[in-house]
Amino acid sequence: MPLRRLASLPRSVLATLPTPLERGPELGHGPRLWMKRDDLTGLGVGGNKARKLEFLCGEALALGADCLITVGAGQSNHCRMTAAAGARLGLETHLVLSGDKPDVLVGNQLLANLFGAHLHFTGVSPSHWGALEIARETLTEELAADGLRPHSIPIGGSTPVGALGYVTAMIELSQQCEAAEISPSAIVFTSSSGGTHAGLVAGKALLRSIGRTVPDILAIGVAKGVVMGMPDIAGLAAETLALLDSTGVVDDDIEIDARWLGDDYAEPTRAGDEAIAWAARRGGWVLDRTYSGKGFAGFLGNAAQGRWGADEDVIFIHTGGLPAVFAPGGLPAP
Ligand SMILES: *Cc1c(COP(=O)(O)O)cnc(C)c1O
Repeated sequence: MPLRRLASLPRSVLATLPTPLERGPELGHGPRLWMKRDDLTGLGVGGNKARKLEFLCGEALALGADCLITVGAGQSNHCRMTAAAGARLGLETHLVLSGDKPDVLVGNQLLANLFGAHLHFTGVSPSHWGALEIARETLTEELAADGLRPHSIPIGGSTPVGALGYVTAMIELSQQCEAAEISPSAIVFTSSSGGTHAGLVAGKALLRSIGRTVPDILAIGVAKGVVMGMPDIAGLAAETLALLDSTGVVDDDIEIDARWLGDDYAEPTRAGDEAIAWAARRGGWVLDRTYSGKGFAGFLGNAAQGRWGADEDVIFIHTGGLPAVFAPGGLPAP
């Protein structure tokens, strides 16, 4: 029933799915590593937000919107992918960004501009999500007053509708695991605005309800809000399931490892930089310093601490972040 409901919800085809599930290199100790390549979702050079945007844009079009607004840090991957979605769907797109307008656009801003989005620089610090959200709401009201019909998307696209993208990812992964004849102990990934986490947890509850063996969902928090329990992942996952007329999230499903954040969001860490080097040299994978590098440090750290045995399979979801590698401070200096 919930699966039929999921298939009936408005969705724009934006991502190239399924993304590959690759066997990783040997760790030398601990579990077998598998990499779920959500950096290869395709839309606007890829990343996890493409999955959320399929449902968020489906919702926008169903509501008759003619314009998209969203918000993020200056080098927001979510904003860049929203710009690409707007371009694909013919929707005017406005991005509310932290920081000041730079002289030269690089990384995600370069791409967002290339996709034709309007960039609004607020001068706000990238970790002040409250102030950024207020700026988004103000801009939404202004555009509506100008006669547009804006669809306004919160930071990271982490609404119940956005999180549906990771319910479908969880189903996709369970099919790939079946084909690979593995039953993973855990799925590990980088978490900031919480929609990916909520969707995976909701997907896990759904799979459990149809009798499947389900993995641990281990979020590595890379923003102060996440590690302080904001947003409320259990609540967001329950609201996501409610869209499918379903329930079943339990508190034990929620696990956030806060040890890999370092000083703050987007402040690089030594463990993150070492994880970036490991992934590049051992797997040919490109991780970034704000998200996937810290997340992968969390995977390597938990493996080194003996959380999983040699006969276990663990999946790391590569959530993307490539363009930030080409922005100032994007990779550690040699
Ligand atoms: C947005 C993002 C995340 C975190 O996803 P949330 O759903 O916001 O928690 C992880 N990695 C990358 C590269 C991202 O852009």
